[in-house]
Amino acid sequence: MSPVVSLSDLAVSGRTVLLRADFNVPLDTDASGGRVITDDGRIRAALPTIQSLTSQGARVVILAHLGRPKGVPAEELSLRPVAARLAELLGQPVAMAADVCSDSAKAVVAGLAPGEVAMLENVRFDPRETSKDVGERTALASHWAALGDCFVSDGFGVVHREQASVTELPQLLPHAAGLLVAREAEVFTTLITDPQRPYTVVLGGSKVSDKLGVIANLITKVDRLLIGGGMCFTFLVAQGHAVGSSLVEEDQVDTVRGFLADAAERGVDLVLPTDLVIADAFAADANTKVVTVEQGVPDGWMGLDIGPESAANFARLVEESATVVWNGPMGVFEMAAFEAGTRAVGEALTRVDGMSVVGGGDSAAAVRLLGIDEAAISHISTGGGASLEFLEGRTLPGLAVLAKS
Ligand code: AMP
Repeated sequence: MSPVVSLSDLAVSGRTVLLRADFNVPLDTDASGGRVITDDGRIRAALPTIQSLTSQGARVVILAHLGRPKGVPAEELSLRPVAARLAELLGQPVAMAADVCSDSAKAVVAGLAPGEVAMLENVRFDPRETSKDVGERTALASHWAALGDCFVSDGFGVVHREQASVTELPQLLPHAAGLLVAREAEVFTTLITDPQRPYTVVLGGSKVSDKLGVIANLITKVDRLLIGGGMCFTFLVAQGHAVGSSLVEEDQVDTVRGFLADAAERGVDLVLPTDLVIADAFAADANTKVVTVEQGVPDGWMGLDIGPESAANFARLVEESATVVWNGPMGVFEMAAFEAGTRAVGEALTRVDGMSVVGGGDSAAAVRLLGIDEAAISHISTGGGASLEFLEGRTLPGLAVLAKS
C-alpha cells in the first residue's frame, strides 16, 4: 500500500477539522433504562488524534456511526452517550448536534472556538452515508465539506467501506490520516510485506466462511497457521473426524480440504486442535469433558473450546514466533467454562519476543474481558473487518483515498 498523508503534513491551526472516528462501541441498558457503554476502547483509541488537533488550536468536528440505523434516526442509536464519555475522557465539553448535517450541525459548528470539540449525530441516520450511489454519497459529503476546512480519517474500523464520510469527504477537502489510522496502516503493511519469521497467524471465531479470503492469502505468506474456535470443526470434518453437533459449514468442507492440501504442498504448518472441551449444551452450566480429536465428539455433544493439550501447543507455537497475528477467539470465551483456550493464546501473545498483533473485533474484546496485559501486546487493532481485508491483500478504499500523490 502506498504511504498515506500524515497528520503532520496538514495545517490545522485555527481551522475547522472534520474528523471521521470509529465510535461504534457496544452499549447495554442499565436498571433505569439509560444506555451505558460496555467497552470504550474505540473512544480511547481516538484520543491522541483529537488531542493533537485541539492542542494545535483546531476546532474539531467528529463524524461517527453507531450500529445500523438503516438511514433513519433512531433514539437508541444516538451518539449522545458516546459524546458524554468522550467529554469525560478528554476532560472538556463535547458539543452534541441533534442532526447529521442540517441546522443543528451548522449551529454547533459555528459556535466552536479554537481547541473545542463537537460531535454530529450518527452519520448513518442519513441514508446517503451508506448509499451504493456515488452521487448520493457525494451530495452528503458536500454538506459536511461546507462545514469545515479539512478532513482527518481516524476510523480504522470503517476504512474498508465505501461510505460518504470515509471515501467521498476526503476527495472534497485537504486531508490526512489520523494517528490511529496511520499506525494501523503501518502495522498491517509490515504484516503483509515484511514480517519477521517465524510468522504465525492464529485464526478462530465462529465462521470459516468469513475467513476464506484471509486463509487463501495467508497460506502464501505465513510459516504457521493455527486454527481454533468454531471454524476448526469444518477442518476436522474435512479430515474425517466426528464432530457431533459442533458448528460446521458443510458447504465449505471441500474448500477447506483444498486449504489443507495447499498448506501441505507449500510446507506451511496448518495446525488444528488435537483435543477439545466438549459440552452437552450451548450453556455456561452444561456438562463438559475433554476428548481427543481422534476419539471424536459424541452425538449430542459439541466442541466449545480447544482442549488443554491444544491450548499449550498453540501457546508454545505463538511464543516461538517473531511475528504473530491473532484474529478470532479459540472458544466461547464469554462463558468461563470455555475461555481457557482463548486465554492461553492471548497470554502467549504477551510473551512474544517480536511483533504481536490482535486483529480487532472479538479477539480485542476477549483481551479486555479476560484481563490480559494489553501493554505487553505490540498492537491491538480497532478494526476487525478492516484488518481481515488488509490481511487478504485487498485495497481498502478509505486508505486508498488518503494515499500520498
Ligand atoms: P466471529 O464473530 O466469527 O469472530 O466469532 C466470535 C464468536 O465465536 C464468539 O462470540 C465465540 O463465542 C464464538 N465461538 C468461538 N468458538 C466457538 C465454538 N467452538 N462454537 C461456537 N461458537 C464459538
